[in-house]
Amino acid sequence: MDDFDLPPLNIKCTDSDCENDLHCFLSTKKMAKEGKTGSCRNCGVDLVDWDRTHMNEVNDVDYKFHIMKKEMIRHHFWHVTIDQKAINYAKRKGRIKLTESVKSRLKSSVGSASPYRDGQQTPFKGNPIYYAQHATATCCRRCIEEWHDIPKGRELTESELEYMCTLVNKYLSERIPSITEGGEKVPVIRRGGVN
Ligand SMILES: [Zn+2]
Ligand SMILES: [Zn+2]
Repeated sequence: MDDFDLPPLNIKCTDSDCENDLHCFLSTKKMAKEGKTGSCRNCGVDLVDWDRTHMNEVNDVDYKFHIMKKEMIRHHFWHVTIDQKAINYAKRKGRIKLTESVKSRLKSSVGSASPYRDGQQTPFKGNPIYYAQHATATCCRRCIEEWHDIPKGRELTESELEYMCTLVNKYLSERIPSITEGGEKVPVIRRGGVN
């Protein structure tokens, strides 16, 4: 599936391409009312072991990542090319500082009981943490509720935040393996090319 044609950047959480085994597991209001959550809202396929996924076991992250990639929006952010500005940002920071930024970004974007502009608070480019948040369903409280079984309307606990940091950091190490511990000098991109 790695070679599939990447959709344009304006991908939405509710998009799916079921014929290519890329679904959307966010339930509709009707599904929720009927107690039929968990399957694809568009084709109805039931692929996810939700009990296992919702354990939020750090040791079982591989399963979570594997099954999340069956959702179109996650798959997209696992495979899309990360923009150069975002890569440079990560390289400049280095692993240690990036990890700190991950924590403060998660706290400020999704940590409170009712985050500002929930559902639209995570941009699609410019910072590698944004890519990671979409890929790991830590972008908004709706995705967090769906994939990590944490209800909306209350603050995230310290251990929940820690868990999400683990997911985001794991994504960043996988997607940008060249980040050094302490960061490095990377030239600023100017219009017309790198100087
Ligand atoms: Zn589907
Ligand atoms: Zn989201």
